[in-house]
Amino acid sequence: MKYIGAHVSAGGGVENAPLNAKAIGAKAFALFTKNQKQWNASPLTDKSIADFKKNCADHGFLPEMILPHDSYLINLGHPEEEGLSKSREAFNDEMMRCQQLGLKMLNFHPGSHLNKISPSECLTRIAESINIALDLTQGVTAVIENTAGQGTNMGYAFEQIAEIISQVDDKSRVGVCIDTCHTFTSGYDLRTKEVFDQTFAKFDQIIGWNYLRAIHLNDSKKELATRVDRHHSIGQGFIGMELFEVIMNDSHFDNMPIIMETPDDQIWAEEIRLLYSFIR
Ligand SMILES: [Zn+2]
Ligand SMILES: [Zn+2]
Repeated sequence: MKYIGAHVSAGGGVENAPLNAKAIGAKAFALFTKNQKQWNASPLTDKSIADFKKNCADHGFLPEMILPHDSYLINLGHPEEEGLSKSREAFNDEMMRCQQLGLKMLNFHPGSHLNKISPSECLTRIAESINIALDLTQGVTAVIENTAGQGTNMGYAFEQIAEIISQVDDKSRVGVCIDTCHTFTSGYDLRTKEVFDQTFAKFDQIIGWNYLRAIHLNDSKKELATRVDRHHSIGQGFIGMELFEVIMNDSHFDNMPIIMETPDDQIWAEEIRLLYSFIR
């Protein structure tokens, strides 16, 4: 079964996210558990946690189909001590918030070397950051998202993600989220069934299907291999509609959150209906 949704607003409290997801006909959703543009957040209240769990249960959202995303400020591969420890503290807090909410995953962009350390040193720092967070929490899997490779962001090559995973101690609590826009602009073609199969054969060979926990389903405003991260609505960008038909009919993507981060939230309900209509 396919669980399709979008990254919905948690404005007014995390307990509103499942309601916003329900309103667009989603069967999965992503959310920020705190303001993604600020370092500090007040702790989740007992009431907010209870209401979140109740709203998820009432509307049929299993924890396995909910994919929280961490703050954009966090850089788990930060080259400098201060930035690194601040990022690790914030990430540990986000993992803890997920645990409190009864969630199973936290999705994050791996990190950036900022031209101050080598890419491989950056990957080692990211893995160490994950190890620290996994030691402090229980039941939450750290889900690494592949990136477009904009600027000095790591995680655009499958080999880099495999290298991070190889340095994580508890392999049962590390996973991968593949963003289709990032995959395409980082240089892996997805536009036809044939090239899609080639790209995912590489994914399987280098990382492995067993690590795939979620999909970010986005079209792209930028061309193949431009290393720029600009999402477009389903079928309206340079990737085009065939990819979305292919994914909807591939059982590798069953029973995991398939989350749109497409720019026009007014058409999310329509996009979800369209995607479900592709299933043969
Ligand atoms: Zn994404
Ligand atoms: Zn993106």
